[in-house]
Amino acid sequence: MNTQQLRELASGRDPGKAAACTCLAAQSAAWESITDDRWPAGLEQVGSLRDPAIDGPTFEELHPNGTRYGSPDAPIAIGWFPFNRCDVYRCSRCSTAFLRYTEYGGYYVDHRVRMVSPALIVEP
Ligand SMILES: [Zn+2]
Repeated sequence: MNTQQLRELASGRDPGKAAACTCLAAQSAAWESITDDRWPAGLEQVGSLRDPAIDGPTFEELHPNGTRYGSPDAPIAIGWFPFNRCDVYRCSRCSTAFLRYTEYGGYYVDHRVRMVSPALIVEP
């Protein structure tokens, strides 16, 4: 999925439905850990931001305006960490779009989720 496709997907969000939707727990502006048992029902995977041609995607992040990894207004930049590891999900009820990837630690895996705000998507 490319930048334009992600923007179109995220623009389909219905804010009225989203405010009371079952996916509310995942509607985080910044990256948030979310365990499998908190992962809302009704989210379906609709694509991926991974580039199948790249074996070891970069860990470099893009922050031209001084944001950090955990900033709610950090840009969504396809090709940069962690977006280059993300799968794309959409809520079947309110059409909110989400990104999810997995951090692998020594003894754990940590799923991280972030809601896609179209205004934060930057061109590559
Ligand atoms: Zn929803």
